[in-house]
Amino acid sequence: MIPPISKILFHHLVNGPHTMSDRLVPDPDGTEELARTLGEMVREKLGRSLSIREVDAGSCNGCELEIHAVNSPVYDLERFGIRFVASPRHADVLLVTGPVTANMAEALQRTYDATPAPKWVVAMGDCAKDGGCFAGSYAVVGGVSAVVPVDLHIPGCPPSPRQILTSLLALLDSVDHAKP
Ligand code: SF4
Repeated sequence: MIPPISKILFHHLVNGPHTMSDRLVPDPDGTEELARTLGEMVREKLGRSLSIREVDAGSCNGCELEIHAVNSPVYDLERFGIRFVASPRHADVLLVTGPVTANMAEALQRTYDATPAPKWVVAMGDCAKDGGCFAGSYAVVGGVSAVVPVDLHIPGCPPSPRQILTSLLALLDSVDHAKP
Protein backbone atom coordinates (compact mmCIF):
# COMPACT_ATOMS: atom_id res chain seq x y z
CA MET A 1 0.00 0.00 0.00
CA ILE A 2 1.30 3.48 -0.88
CA PRO A 3 1.72 5.68 2.23
CA PRO A 4 -0.26 8.93 2.29
CA ILE A 5 1.51 11.96 0.81
CA SER A 6 1.62 13.70 4.21
CA LYS A 7 3.61 10.76 5.59
CA ILE A 8 6.07 10.89 2.66
CA LEU A 9 6.51 14.64 3.03
CA PHE A 10 7.10 14.30 6.76
CA HIS A 11 9.65 11.52 6.17
CA HIS A 12 11.64 13.66 3.70
CA LEU A 13 11.38 16.69 5.95
CA VAL A 14 12.99 14.78 8.80
CA ASN A 15 15.45 12.55 6.89
CA GLY A 16 16.12 14.50 3.69
CA PRO A 17 15.45 13.10 0.20
CA HIS A 18 17.23 9.85 -0.73
CA THR A 19 18.77 11.44 -3.81
CA MET A 20 20.55 14.02 -1.70
CA SER A 21 22.19 11.65 0.80
CA ASP A 22 25.64 11.87 -0.86
CA ARG A 23 25.60 15.63 -0.57
CA LEU A 24 25.40 15.35 3.20
CA VAL A 25 28.99 14.08 3.10
CA PRO A 26 31.15 17.05 2.18
CA ASP A 27 33.26 16.27 -0.91
CA PRO A 28 33.44 12.45 -0.41
CA ASP A 29 35.93 11.80 -3.23
CA GLY A 30 37.79 15.11 -3.31
CA THR A 31 36.18 16.16 -6.57
CA GLU A 32 35.08 19.52 -5.22
CA GLU A 33 38.63 20.29 -4.16
CA LEU A 34 39.81 19.30 -7.64
CA ALA A 35 37.24 21.61 -9.26
CA ARG A 36 38.30 24.43 -6.94
CA THR A 37 41.95 23.97 -7.96
CA LEU A 38 40.87 23.98 -11.60
CA GLY A 39 38.95 27.23 -11.04
CA GLU A 40 42.02 28.87 -9.48
CA MET A 41 44.19 27.76 -12.39
CA VAL A 42 41.65 29.10 -14.89
CA ARG A 43 41.84 32.53 -13.25
CA GLU A 44 45.62 32.38 -13.05
CA LYS A 45 46.16 31.31 -16.67
CA LEU A 46 43.33 33.13 -18.43
CA GLY A 47 42.39 35.91 -16.05
CA ARG A 48 38.73 35.08 -16.60
CA SER A 49 36.34 32.15 -17.07
CA LEU A 50 37.04 29.15 -19.30
CA SER A 51 34.41 28.63 -21.99
CA ILE A 52 33.79 25.18 -23.40
CA ARG A 53 31.81 24.27 -26.50
CA GLU A 54 30.79 20.63 -26.53
CA VAL A 55 30.60 18.95 -29.93
CA ASP A 56 28.91 15.59 -30.31
CA ALA A 57 30.55 14.19 -33.42
CA GLY A 58 28.66 10.89 -33.26
CA SER A 59 28.64 9.79 -29.63
CA CYS A 60 26.33 7.14 -28.14
CA ASN A 61 25.41 9.82 -25.56
CA GLY A 62 27.25 8.07 -22.71
CA CYS A 63 29.93 10.76 -22.73
CA GLU A 64 27.25 13.47 -22.76
CA LEU A 65 25.69 12.04 -19.60
CA GLU A 66 29.01 12.53 -17.79
CA ILE A 67 29.26 16.06 -19.15
CA HIS A 68 25.75 16.73 -17.85
CA ALA A 69 26.85 15.33 -14.49
CA VAL A 70 29.85 17.62 -14.28
CA ASN A 71 27.58 20.54 -15.12
CA SER A 72 24.82 19.49 -12.71
CA PRO A 73 24.06 21.12 -9.33
CA VAL A 74 26.13 18.39 -7.60
CA TYR A 75 29.44 19.46 -9.23
CA ASP A 76 28.19 22.90 -10.31
CA LEU A 77 31.27 23.73 -12.40
CA GLU A 78 30.10 27.25 -13.21
CA ARG A 79 30.85 28.46 -9.72
CA PHE A 80 34.55 27.80 -10.46
CA GLY A 81 34.52 29.84 -13.67
CA ILE A 82 34.11 26.97 -16.11
CA ARG A 83 31.08 27.19 -18.31
CA PHE A 84 29.60 25.58 -21.38
CA VAL A 85 28.68 27.96 -24.19
CA ALA A 86 26.36 27.60 -27.16
CA SER A 87 28.62 29.13 -29.80
CA PRO A 88 32.16 28.12 -30.83
CA ARG A 89 32.83 31.84 -31.34
CA HIS A 90 32.71 32.24 -27.56
CA ALA A 91 34.74 29.12 -26.76
CA ASP A 92 38.30 28.50 -25.60
CA VAL A 93 37.97 24.73 -25.64
CA LEU A 94 36.17 22.37 -28.01
CA LEU A 95 35.21 19.25 -26.07
CA VAL A 96 34.52 16.65 -28.74
CA THR A 97 32.80 13.33 -28.02
CA GLY A 98 32.24 10.21 -30.06
CA PRO A 99 33.81 8.84 -33.18
CA VAL A 100 33.60 11.39 -35.97
CA THR A 101 30.84 10.23 -38.27
CA ALA A 102 30.88 11.01 -41.96
CA ASN A 103 27.84 13.21 -41.45
CA MET A 104 29.51 15.24 -38.70
CA ALA A 105 33.01 15.63 -40.14
CA GLU A 106 32.30 18.86 -42.00
CA ALA A 107 30.33 20.30 -39.06
CA LEU A 108 33.26 19.57 -36.74
CA GLN A 109 35.70 21.22 -39.15
CA ARG A 110 33.46 24.28 -39.43
CA THR A 111 33.07 24.49 -35.66
CA TYR A 112 36.85 24.34 -35.30
CA ASP A 113 37.29 27.07 -37.91
CA ALA A 114 34.73 29.26 -36.12
CA THR A 115 36.53 29.03 -32.77
CA PRO A 116 38.88 31.96 -32.20
CA ALA A 117 42.59 31.22 -31.71
CA PRO A 118 44.29 30.28 -29.52
CA LYS A 119 41.98 27.32 -28.99
CA TRP A 120 42.28 23.88 -27.54
CA VAL A 121 40.63 20.69 -28.70
CA VAL A 122 39.93 17.99 -26.14
CA ALA A 123 38.86 14.59 -27.47
CA MET A 124 36.71 12.94 -24.82
CA GLY A 125 36.23 9.18 -24.58
CA ASP A 126 37.73 6.13 -26.27
CA CYS A 127 35.69 6.70 -29.43
CA ALA A 128 37.12 10.19 -29.83
CA LYS A 129 40.63 8.73 -29.91
CA ASP A 130 40.32 6.28 -32.78
CA GLY A 131 36.64 5.51 -33.30
CA GLY A 132 36.54 3.08 -30.34
CA CYS A 133 33.90 0.40 -30.66
CA PHE A 134 32.59 2.10 -33.81
CA ALA A 135 35.93 2.00 -35.65
CA GLY A 136 35.66 0.42 -39.07
CA SER A 137 32.04 1.37 -39.57
CA TYR A 138 31.18 2.71 -43.00
CA ALA A 139 29.61 5.70 -41.24
CA VAL A 140 32.73 6.63 -39.23
CA VAL A 141 35.66 8.72 -40.47
CA GLY A 142 37.80 7.94 -37.39
CA GLY A 143 38.86 9.68 -34.20
CA VAL A 144 38.74 13.44 -33.71
CA SER A 145 42.34 13.87 -34.88
CA ALA A 146 41.30 12.56 -38.30
CA VAL A 147 39.50 15.88 -38.80
CA VAL A 148 40.97 18.54 -36.48
CA PRO A 149 44.18 18.76 -34.41
CA VAL A 150 43.76 17.41 -30.86
CA ASP A 151 45.54 18.89 -27.83
CA LEU A 152 44.41 16.38 -25.23
CA HIS A 153 42.63 13.06 -25.09
CA ILE A 154 40.54 11.93 -22.10
CA PRO A 155 40.46 8.12 -22.00
CA GLY A 156 37.44 6.17 -20.76
CA CYS A 157 34.12 4.83 -21.91
CA PRO A 158 32.81 7.13 -20.71
CA PRO A 159 35.29 9.20 -18.67
CA SER A 160 34.01 10.11 -15.20
CA PRO A 161 33.45 13.71 -14.08
CA ARG A 162 36.63 13.39 -12.03
CA GLN A 163 38.60 12.34 -15.13
CA ILE A 164 37.14 15.27 -17.05
CA LEU A 165 38.23 17.71 -14.34
CA THR A 166 41.70 16.15 -14.02
CA SER A 167 42.22 16.38 -17.77
CA LEU A 168 41.12 20.02 -17.97
CA LEU A 169 43.56 20.73 -15.15
CA ALA A 170 46.36 19.04 -17.13
CA LEU A 171 45.40 21.05 -20.22
CA LEU A 172 45.54 24.36 -18.37
CA ASP A 173 48.76 23.38 -16.67
CA SER A 174 50.35 23.10 -20.11
CA VAL A 175 49.17 26.61 -21.08
CA ASP A 176 51.92 29.14 -20.49
CA HIS A 177 50.25 32.25 -21.79
CA ALA A 178 47.05 34.15 -21.11
CA LYS A 179 44.55 34.30 -23.94
CA PRO A 180 43.64 37.90 -24.78
S1 SF4 B 1 33.53 6.52 -25.41
FE1 SF4 B 1 31.92 5.09 -24.71
S2 SF4 B 1 30.37 6.43 -23.77
FE2 SF4 B 1 31.68 7.76 -25.05
S3 SF4 B 1 30.66 7.83 -27.06
FE3 SF4 B 1 32.11 6.12 -27.14
S4 SF4 B 1 30.92 4.29 -26.56
FE4 SF4 B 1 29.75 6.09 -25.92
